[in-house]
Amino acid sequence: MSDNHQENYQIETKCIQSGWHPKNGEPRVLPIYQSTTFKYDTSDQMGRLFDLEEAGYFYTRLQNPTNDAVAAKIADLEGGVAAMLTSSGQAANYFAVFNICEAGDHVVASNSIYGGTFNLLGTTLKKQGIECTFVDPDASEEEINAAFRPNTKAMFGETIANPSCVVLDIEKMAKIAHAHGVPLIIDNTFATPINCRPFEWGADIVTHSTTKYMDGHAMSVGGCIVDSGNFDWEAYGDKFAGLTRPDESYHGIIYTQKFGKLAYIEKATAQLMRDLGSIPSPMNTFLLNVGLETLHLRVPRHCENALKVAKFLEQHEKVAWVKYPGLESNPYHALAQKYMPDGTCGVMAFGLKGGREISISFMDHLKLVAIVTHVADARTCVLHPASHTHRQMTDEQLLEAGIAPDLIRLSVGIENADDIIADLSQALECI
Ligand SMILES: *Cc1c(COP(=O)(O)O)cnc(C)c1O
Repeated sequence: MSDNHQENYQIETKCIQSGWHPKNGEPRVLPIYQSTTFKYDTSDQMGRLFDLEEAGYFYTRLQNPTNDAVAAKIADLEGGVAAMLTSSGQAANYFAVFNICEAGDHVVASNSIYGGTFNLLGTTLKKQGIECTFVDPDASEEEINAAFRPNTKAMFGETIANPSCVVLDIEKMAKIAHAHGVPLIIDNTFATPINCRPFEWGADIVTHSTTKYMDGHAMSVGGCIVDSGNFDWEAYGDKFAGLTRPDESYHGIIYTQKFGKLAYIEKATAQLMRDLGSIPSPMNTFLLNVGLETLHLRVPRHCENALKVAKFLEQHEKVAWVKYPGLESNPYHALAQKYMPDGTCGVMAFGLKGGREISISFMDHLKLVAIVTHVADARTCVLHPASHTHRQMTDEQLLEAGIAPDLIRLSVGIENADDIIADLSQALECI
């Protein structure tokens, strides 16, 4: 939730200091409030909490002090007004969309996104009556405009797409979304607020799989939704009736009237968390917070190592192609320079001469670099999306999403870059 201690600190300081502000004699380190419930002296006090008349804790599915402190930290890192943690990145993206869409509505999404989100938007939300049109994010404004309908409620994209490493032109997308009176939702998992803060480029809502760089050590699955507070829901009151008209499931409160700029996150907490659950455990949130404290140290190192590895792969005779926006030869290099001048991320994609079978054999020869279903943690790892994360997609869908069947996703960790390169090199020798 909102952090009233917000100061104008630099992002490194925010990583350490934001969110938890102990009063005199309280623990210096964020405590793990491992309690499902909270005690009150009078029945009336508890009743006021249920009516949202007072802020306070009553049941951890709705709010928990450990979770709130970490949500406030992430909101501060992104420059937003409020945030809500979820049990996974999937839940974050689901709630971010479902908070403003219902059966009969429509969203427009970039086709270069994480496979799980592609399934969520294209298949699962469809079963709930919400349709999605996928667009090529590099298409002209006219083409993307054509995907919008009167019932479109949101536009969705990823700062750096997992795993195609397509860099989104956030300003262009924000302009298009706003011309149609809908918010732009950006999944900023790969860039992290260290390298890009999408609100500064016009995005309205940011989501994260905190499982990745934010946690940073592959310890706990989690997600987060951050609201910039900038989208004017009341300007499109009929379209966003869930926020601007009485909520009968909450004694007829009107979120925009009662909570102003906090309306979107308050509704997501009061309605979606109440009814659908998906909160993170305070223990996991504590671990996430430890990860966040070093985010500003780790992310630059991931980027530095990744650039060295990408340059090594690019010049290797057995490598057919490398996609890393940090490389000058990459078609997204200019966009990356604009939105992420300090670096992009540690993840890249590449393919080997000889195609799919050779790629699989190469991976089996790696020693330091592990085959795991993960990205964006301290340890270097690889995955073959066509055989693993994206195996439900047809070859046609894979290509549409910018994922060649031979694509190897490499997540460069923060080990010594020379050791990573030596391992890749010996595995390349073996094939
Ligand atoms: C991993 C990932 C997700 C899903 O997050 P989980 O925490 O695994 O549920 C969503 N978006 C992106 C970009 C991801 O990398």
